[in-house]
Order: sequence, then C-alpha cells, then structure tokens
Amino acid sequence: MYDQIIIGGGVSGVTAAANAARAGRNVLLLEAADRLGGCVHTWQPTDDFWLELGAHTAYNSYGAMLALNGDPNFGNLIPRAKVGYHFLADGRVQSPFARLSFLDAALHLPFNLGLNKTGLDVQTYFTRLLGAGNWSKLLAPAFAAVLSQPAGPYPAEWLFKRKQREKTAPRKFTHAAGLQGWLTELAGTVPVRLGSPVTGLVTGPDGVRVQLGDTELTTRQVVIATPLDVAARLLAAIDAGLAEQLGQTPMADIETHAVAVNAGKVKLPPVAGLIGGDDVFFSAVSRDYLPHPRWRGFAFHFKPGRLDQAGKRAKVAEVLGCTPNDFAFEQSKINRLPALTPTSVAFAAELEARLAATPVRLAGNYLNGLSLGDAAQYAADHSQ
Ligand SMILES: Cc1cc2nc3c(=O)[nH]c(=O)nc-3n(C[C@H](O)[C@H](O)[C@H](O)COP(=O)(O)OP(=O)(O)OC[C@H]3O[C@@H](n4cnc5c(N)ncnc54)[C@H](O)[C@@H]3O)c2cc1C
Repeated sequence: MYDQIIIGGGVSGVTAAANAARAGRNVLLLEAADRLGGCVHTWQPTDDFWLELGAHTAYNSYGAMLALNGDPNFGNLIPRAKVGYHFLADGRVQSPFARLSFLDAALHLPFNLGLNKTGLDVQTYFTRLLGAGNWSKLLAPAFAAVLSQPAGPYPAEWLFKRKQREKTAPRKFTHAAGLQGWLTELAGTVPVRLGSPVTGLVTGPDGVRVQLGDTELTTRQVVIATPLDVAARLLAAIDAGLAEQLGQTPMADIETHAVAVNAGKVKLPPVAGLIGGDDVFFSAVSRDYLPHPRWRGFAFHFKPGRLDQAGKRAKVAEVLGCTPNDFAFEQSKINRLPALTPTSVAFAAELEARLAATPVRLAGNYLNGLSLGDAAQYAADHSQ
C-alpha cells in the first residue's frame, strides 16, 4: 500500500510527488505518456539542439520549483539571452510599445490605479486600467500570446501575481536540457511509471484503488494532477456532482507546429518570439534566447481550426522568410490548456473544501493559474 499515488507527470504532479517523497512518504508517480512533462515538452531534433513545444520560460519567482532544485547555487539554470517579443506588421517586426497609446493610458490609468482584480476578467480589468484601444491593439493579442488562447475571459487575479523572487537564480532562465530536462531533474529519485494511464478510481475503507486497465494499485491518498477534463472523469466515482461541474470548464486546443532551420536560411532577426495578433497564430516562440551556431528553431502556436498542415507550413515559411523546403526538422503537437474565467477561482476553493474529507487531492493548472510557477506552488501547498 502506497502512502500517496500521484496521477500525471506534468509540473503539478512532479512537484507534488517530489514534496511528498521529501517528507518521507512512500509515493508513486503514474504518467500516461512515455515522458515526464505534460505541457513542458522539449523536442530534440539533433543531438545538440532542442526546442520547446510548450512552456519555454521559467522565472526566479517560481519558488516551489526552485525549492526542489538539486544545485543550491542554481548553476544548472541558464539565463536567457536578452531578445524581445515583437508584433509582426506588414512583414516587419514591430515593438509592442509602438502599439501603445499613451493618451488612452493617460485618460484611464490615474482614475483606476487601485483597481481590485478580484472577480474581474482580464479584459474588464485592463480596459479600465489602460483604455479600450490599448486593450484591443496591444494587450489582447499580447496576453493571448502568453495564454495561448483568447485572453479576455481569463481571471485577472490569476495573471501576473506578485511573487517573491529568488535573487540568486537567473531572473528568466532555461536549463541545458530544456525545461523538460529540468523537470525530470526535479523529479529526482521519485519512483515513476511512464506509459501508465489511470483509467479509474474507487474509494473504500482501505483507501483508494487506482485502476490501470486490468491492474490495480492501492494507496492511502491519491493526487490527481492531470489536465482538467481527465481530472473530471477520474473524479466522477468520488463526487459525481463536483466532477460534472468541473467538466463544464472547456479546454482550449493549441495547434503547435515547430521547425528547426539552418540559421543562414532565416531572414527574421533574432527574437524571443512573435505575437500573432489578428494573424492565424497566437505566438511564434523562438530558441533565439539560447542561440545555436547552426540552427534556429521556432514553435508556432496556431489558433485551432484555422489552417491545415500545408497552410501552417506555408505560414511558418512566410514569417521566417524562407521556404518549407528549408525546414530541416519539423514536429507537430496539440497542446491543451483549460479556458479559465473568474468563476474558476471560487470553484477551485470549493473543490478543495469538498474533497478535504476524502482521500483525494487535486493539483493542476486550473486551480491557481496557468504558469509553471503557479501550478507548482499549488501542488506543493495542497498535496500533503
Ligand atoms: C504552448 C504553451 C506555452 C506555455 N508557456 C509557458 C511558459 O513559458 N511559462 C510558464 O510558466 N507556463 C507556460 N505554459 C503553461 C504551463 O506549461 C502549464 O500550465 C503547466 O505546464 C501545466 O502543468 P500541469 O502539470 O498542471 O498539467 P500538464 O502539463 O497538462 O500535465 C498533466 C499530465 O497528466 C498526464 N495524464 C493525463 N491523463 C492521465 C492519466 N489518465 N493517467 C496518468 N497521467 C495522465 C499527461 O500526460 C500530462 O503529462 C505554457 C503552456 C502551453 C500549452
């Protein structure tokens, strides 16, 4: 009998499992895929070049992750080179500041400085703060690039939280093996079973029976750290009403297409990434923050249902200033994130309260915000 079984090996599950193991508990981490990471997915097209297909940036405010770091001096973390995010307008990169209306901001900011974010969505909050023009021209596309989905309905209090910074770590960083490499390192010696999708949960007087197809494991406590829709399915046998309510939050699909191109073939100047705005992609994230002598890499996060594969390849080539024949390596992936709203905040608290008397705990990016740091913090605080 395990003390705790954690289901899902993304940042939430890894953080929950690593904390429980450090506390001396007999834990097991079950992951459906053949790798740890979930939305943290480092693609390695050549021996010495990798590219992030999902999350790409970590900050020194991600305390729950940094607390698990094996090297107390953070020597394993690599600061990102200073390259910026830009819009693409008429085929040329444009600074976000070029889209800021100072007049619009001056007409709103002084009257809304103390505006409380609680209960507001991002569009309402930032329109009051900086004006409708700044929202539509600058902030809506910039935040959609951050969240990889339309940003307006997202809860304002879960975007850009004030957090303590670990000053001895680089401010913005990656890892020599990419963020998936870092996460795998943070998992440390936690026992992990990859390729193990959990199919059901049954609670009883002896704890929880965790079903994996035809086999079963027993544990005193289970932490569900899967995407929201999978969590809703697994929760159905524990609290059907709660599971149904949870399942009502939609998931946002992001169609990611990534390429690695010989650096000499790309006309786009070095950038951290591009903000898609009205175009067919939310963002195009580059690897230029960790330059490579031979390769440049770009992960385009496309809005769902807009383009077929040929259309995506043509768009990537157009933006990079090359042809699809120049792509040396390509990789596609569907990324999935919950589409959260201000009601998600209150519901997260209700979920925690309703499950408190059961042997089931939740962790995941729908309980405290989408960032790696927020997901990890929630997992560290709520999985004991
Ligand atoms: C394109 C993109 C870019 C992003 N960029 C950043 C960024 O730069 N910085 C940042 O801080 N955040 C970023 N994020 C957000 C962040 O990556 C995610 O919110 C976070 O990684 C979610 O972690 P999680 O562990 O809660 O969920 P997930 O990463 O979704 O992990 C859930 C895990 O559960 C597993 N699973 C599913 N079903 C089962 C089952 N039945 N049994 C066992 N396992 C199962 C899955 O395979 C998966 O590994 C980005 C997200 C995306 C999609």
